[in-house]
Amino acid sequence: MRAGTPLHALTRALAEHGLALPNLGDIDRQTVAGATATGTHGTGAALPGLSAGITGLRLATPDGRLRWIDEVQPDLLAAAQVSLGALGVVTELELAVVPTFVLRATEGPDRLDRALADLDELAASHRHVELYWFPHTDRVQVKINDPLAPDEAPEPLPRWRYLLDDELLSNGVFGALNAGLSRAQLLIPSVNQLSARALTARTYTGPSHEVFCAPRRVRFHESEWAVPREALGEALTRLRRWIETSGERVSFPVEIRLAAADDAWLSTGYQRENAYLACHHHVARDPARYLGAVQQIMAPLQGRPHWGKVHTLTADELAERYPRHGDVVALRDRLDPDRVLSNPYLERVLGP
Ligand SMILES: Cc1cc2nc3c(=O)[nH]c(=O)nc-3n(C[C@H](O)[C@H](O)[C@H](O)COP(=O)(O)OP(=O)(O)OC[C@H]3O[C@@H](n4cnc5c(N)ncnc54)[C@H](O)[C@@H]3O)c2cc1C
Repeated sequence: MRAGTPLHALTRALAEHGLALPNLGDIDRQTVAGATATGTHGTGAALPGLSAGITGLRLATPDGRLRWIDEVQPDLLAAAQVSLGALGVVTELELAVVPTFVLRATEGPDRLDRALADLDELAASHRHVELYWFPHTDRVQVKINDPLAPDEAPEPLPRWRYLLDDELLSNGVFGALNAGLSRAQLLIPSVNQLSARALTARTYTGPSHEVFCAPRRVRFHESEWAVPREALGEALTRLRRWIETSGERVSFPVEIRLAAADDAWLSTGYQRENAYLACHHHVARDPARYLGAVQQIMAPLQGRPHWGKVHTLTADELAERYPRHGDVVALRDRLDPDRVLSNPYLERVLGP
C-alpha cells in the first residue's frame, strides 16, 4: 500500500478483498507510514506491534535513490520497520495480512488487584486483553476481544448502545466532564469513583477493525511506556503511590496493554515482551508534572517510551534501553550524512 494511506482506508480496502490486519491500536486515523514509523501497537500477549508486520518497504533515501528493502537485507528491514522518519521517506509498504475475522468484545468492571492477579491467565486464554484503571479508585474496566468461532452467531452492538457508550459517554460526556474537571480538580477522585461504577458489562461482535478502533474526539496529552511484562505490578504500585501522595488529580483512566516481542531495532517490543501503561491529561491541563512523574517511575524499570507520545529522554538514555540504538545511529550516518531529514526531535533522540 502507499505510505500515506490512512489505516481506516486501508482496513476498508482490505475487507473488500476478504483481508484484515491482525491487530490495530485504539484509532485508525493515522497513516500506515506514521503509525509504523512510531512503533504503534495494539494489545495481545502473542501479537507484536504493527511494524513487525512490514515485510518490505520502498524508501526514498536522502541521496535521491529509491530502495526496496525486504528480507533480503534483514538488518535494513529491521531498522526501517520503526524508523522515526530518520532513514528516508517511506513511499510504499508491504504488510502481512490475514483473512477477515469477526471479534467478540467482552467488557466489564473488576477490582484492580483481582484483574492484575488474573492477567497472566487472561492473556494466555484470550487474544486481546486490556485494562483501564481509574486513578483514585481500585476499579478497572477489563476489555477482552476474541475471534468469533464459525458456529457462533454474531451479536452486533445495537445502534443506541453504540451511540450511548462510544459517542456520548466516551466522547461527548467524557469530553465535557474533563474540560470541567480541569477547572475543578478537587472533584476528580469522586467523579472517577462514579465513572468506574457507571461503566457496565457489555458484549458485542463486529468486524475486527471496527471492534479494535473507536472514535476519540476528546483531546489529551499522553505518555505511554513499555515495561518488561514482569514489571507491570511494580510500575502500577509506584504510579498509584505517586498519584495518592502527590496531590495530582488524574481524571483519565490509565490504559494497560500487552504485546509480544519483535525484532525491529527501535521497537518498544525489541526482543522483549511488554506491558504498556498509557497516561493522559486533558488538553486543557499542563501535563508536565504528571507525565514527568510517569517518566521518572517508568524509566528505571527499563521503560521504553512510545516514540509518538510525550517523553523527554535523550539519545544517551535511549541507547541504554534500545540495544540496537547505536546501529540505527550508524545507519543514519551512512544514509543521511548531511542530515537532510533531521529535526529537533530526531536530534534529541538519535543525536546531532
Ligand atoms: C487518539 C490517539 C490514539 C492513539 N492510539 C494509539 C494506540 O492505540 N497504540 C499506539 O501505539 N499508538 C497510538 N497512538 C499514536 C499513533 O499511532 C502514532 O504514533 C501517531 O499518530 C503517528 O501517526 P500519524 O499518521 O499521525 O503520523 P505523523 O504524525 O504524520 O508521523 C509520525 C512520524 O512518522 C514518521 N513518518 C510519517 N510518514 C512517514 C513516511 N512516509 N516516511 C517516513 N517516515 C514517516 C515521521 O517521523 C513522523 O514524524 C494514538 C494517537 C492518538 C492521537
